[in-house]
Amino acid sequence: MTHPLWAPWRLEYVSNADDQEGCIFCRAAAANDEGALVVHRGDSAFVLLNRFPYSSGHLIVAPLRHIGDFAQLSVEEAGEIHALTVRALEVLAAAYRPEGFNIGWNLGRPAGAGVVDHVHEHVVPRWQGDTNFMPVLADVRVIPEHLQATHARLAAGWNA
Ligand SMILES: [Zn+2]
Repeated sequence: MTHPLWAPWRLEYVSNADDQEGCIFCRAAAANDEGALVVHRGDSAFVLLNRFPYSSGHLIVAPLRHIGDFAQLSVEEAGEIHALTVRALEVLAAAYRPEGFNIGWNLGRPAGAGVVDHVHEHVVPRWQGDTNFMPVLADVRVIPEHLQATHARLAAGWNA
């Protein structure tokens, strides 16, 4: 069976996002780093772990500003998101030695976005054959490392 390119984040961030008050990214941006799994905060954008990762180290880069329209990203925000993405690739490469990455934006629910009113970019480390042992279409996925451990590792790597 062939997996569509964007299938990885179908089971995105928060299948239960709608059950909670407010925007999950705005809440994370305002919360303490460890509880919110925030790896790094910049001036206009930040980096956090996906709570429902497709693979270990699955990161999300989002603007701090609550905007749902990709076209509304300012040049400064877009530039910082790019710089944070580059740094995320470096940190993930050092921590997990992935063999590849998917980087992508899901705009709108049909495209797989679980949160549609606060745009965000996925950075997903990939290994040869990972889709073979990860049941990407099932509700239960095997993630070999606990999220808090992943957070500690990547936050330390980010500041190294
Ligand atoms: Zn928001």
